[in-house]
Order: sequence, then structure tokens, then C-alpha cells
Amino acid sequence: MSPAGLLELVLERNPFQRRRLAGLDLGASPALEDLPTLQKSELVADQQDHPPYGTNLTFPLEDYVQLHQTSGTTGVPLRVLDTAADWAWWRSLFARTLATAGVDASDRAALAFSFGPHVQFWAAKEGLQELGAMAVPLGGMTSVARLQTIGEVQATALMCTPTYALRLFEVALEERLEDSLESIERVICTGEPGASLPAVRSRIEEAFGARCLDHAGLTEVGPYGYPCAEHGGMHVYDDEFVSEVLDAEQRPVAAGERGELVLTPLGRTGFPVLRYRTGDVVVNSAERCPAGHADRWLPGGIVGRTDDMVVIRGMNVHPSSIEEAVRSLPGSGEFRITFYSERGGMDEIKLEVELEHGTDARRLQEQMRQQLGLRVRVVPVTPGLLPRPEGKARRVVDERESPWSRV
Ligand SMILES: [Zn+2]
Repeated sequence: MSPAGLLELVLERNPFQRRRLAGLDLGASPALEDLPTLQKSELVADQQDHPPYGTNLTFPLEDYVQLHQTSGTTGVPLRVLDTAADWAWWRSLFARTLATAGVDASDRAALAFSFGPHVQFWAAKEGLQELGAMAVPLGGMTSVARLQTIGEVQATALMCTPTYALRLFEVALEERLEDSLESIERVICTGEPGASLPAVRSRIEEAFGARCLDHAGLTEVGPYGYPCAEHGGMHVYDDEFVSEVLDAEQRPVAAGERGELVLTPLGRTGFPVLRYRTGDVVVNSAERCPAGHADRWLPGGIVGRTDDMVVIRGMNVHPSSIEEAVRSLPGSGEFRITFYSERGGMDEIKLEVELEHGTDARRLQEQMRQQLGLRVRVVPVTPGLLPRPEGKARRVVDERESPWSRV
């Protein structure tokens, strides 16, 4: 559907969008860029005012066939509904993503996700079946049971978060089940920046002896990013999404700058989001990828989340930059980042990291000072002591005093 067609449809039929845009002087035939950007909090507020689904529904309720829920890692979960046509759109896009990652009908893909209300498992399963590949669900299993299943069915692909890929490998070593991973040719990751961070990717590739590829999507917008198999990072489906990279004031950022990815999915009309603020931070590259792929290229994939960025002594800090530094140090393990306030109010960063050699702490500290311009207090920890995340990692603790408590 064209942006104009989408806009016309939702202004005619969607109560949430009509109400939201009614107060604006948009003229007779508004363009997409005339609209204000949309935040998740607006959808959540609408849903709380009009439970259980809210009013961002273009069609009667009986037209909807799938219900998913955002993970709610940051705030209240949001319910999102799809019509049969919208779900078919998800399915075909997910199939395209998997095909770009090299999956075909001969593959058996192990899905290390829960099959709860989150979209990831369901969309992956649909995409695999569209390609004729076999979906092997690993929900509700321990890591050991997952490893045994992967070995028994000789799975050729593994889909999970980058954190979990590393965790699964760690369990394989502990339980002497490394052989069960031998058939894996591809690790297809999502949910965290990890698989686009070179040090994380190469660590996964080394561990599994397999390729590691990244893709991206959100419950609210659909599967928007597929891996660039030749040059890393991701591409956005330009035929299905209008994409913009904006700064905090919602202005386009210059080429080469970081900004928030703002997306309008064109093929999903039942629960439409127009100029949706994804919270994904990307680099606004003006260049095409070296392989010449036409779609917008995100060279470093997702480099962070707007909601995980903190400002420390005037500098923007994404935990993913710290992760990249940790993972590039051989022998480093799990880690935890704590932002805290010194007496006197100065904000500081503490990094606890499992290191085989405690003396590496100084090296890591120096590397972060040089590469990131950050002063980080590195505390070496005995390997195996820090908690192991199972799904999306939560490795950041923010103990800073709020500016108000200092007054
Ligand atoms: Zn490319």
C-alpha cells in the first residue's frame, strides 16, 4: 500500500488515529511527514483507557486472528492484534529475512524462545514454514534439554538472542555436549544489538563454527530488518517500510550520525503505526552497502536503544559499546555495568567482568578510555560468579541519584 493510501484508510476507519490527528490542521490530503511521530506510551495509554485492546483497530474485532504482547522490559506491556492479511504479511517478510540469511527448505531451525505471548517464536515459525524449512520449538526446556534436542534432530540453524547463544555454548562446555552443536551452520539472532557488534558476532561464530546473522523487528511494526550477508549490519525493507533516522527533537540527523529509527509499516493496516519511534538507535548511513543492495543500509545494525542510553559526564553512553569492548577481550565472560554517583554528585561507571586473568582489567580500562573516551572502573570477577541471563539480557544497574535528590 502507498503511504497516501494507508493514511486515507486509517483516517477513515481507525478511531485512535482519527482522534489523534483530528486536532491537527493537516489539510485535505496530508502527507506522512506532516504527522507527528508516535510513541509507544501513546498506544499504552490508549489501551489503558480502552481495555483490553485499545482503539488502534482499523477493522471490526472479528477480523483479527493473532494477539501478541510486547515484552514490557521497559514499562507496561502492549497488546497488538493482527488480521489474517497482516499476519500473512509478517509471514512473507519473515520468510524473506530467513532466505537472505541462507535458510531454505532443507534446514531444521531450532527456536530457543518461549512460545508465550511474544511475537518472536510465532513469526519465526511462520517464516520457516513459508520456506518449507522445519521449525523445532525449544520452549519450556532447560538448556541441557535444548542441546540434546539440537543434537538429536541435527538442527542446522539456531534462532535466539546473542546472549543466549553464548550462554548455550557455555552450558555445552560445562556439560560436555559440544558435539550436539556440530550440525549448526547458522546462528540467527535478534532482540539485542549483539549480533551486529563485531566482537560478539565473531565470538558466536567461533564458538559454533557457524555464521552469525542479525535481523530485527518489533511487535508494533513488524520484521523490518534483514541481514546483509556480505557486509554485515542490516537492511530495512524499503518496499514495506518508510524509514527515517531522527534526533531527540524529531529532526533528521546528518549522514554518519546516530539517531532513532522511525518506521511506518505499509503492509500492516489492522493495527497501524505511522512514524513510529522504534527506540532502536542506528547510524544514518548515506552510502549503499558495498554489495550494492538497494535497501537502506544500517552498517552497524542496531547500535543501542534510546531507553538504555545514559548521559555520563556529558557523554552519551550505550551499554552495547561497553559490551563490544568486553567481548573483544579474549577470555572475558559475563559482565555487569553499574552507573552510580560518587559523593559530590559526579556520575561514574563500574564494570564488573569475569576475567581469566585479573590483570586484564587494566587493559580493558585503557581500551575503553582510548576507544570510547570513557573512564570506567573495571572490577575483575572470578569466572562463573555473575548471573547468567536466559533471554534478553539485563546487565545494567542504574544507581545514580536523580538530579532532584541532589538539590
Ligand atoms: Zn548489503
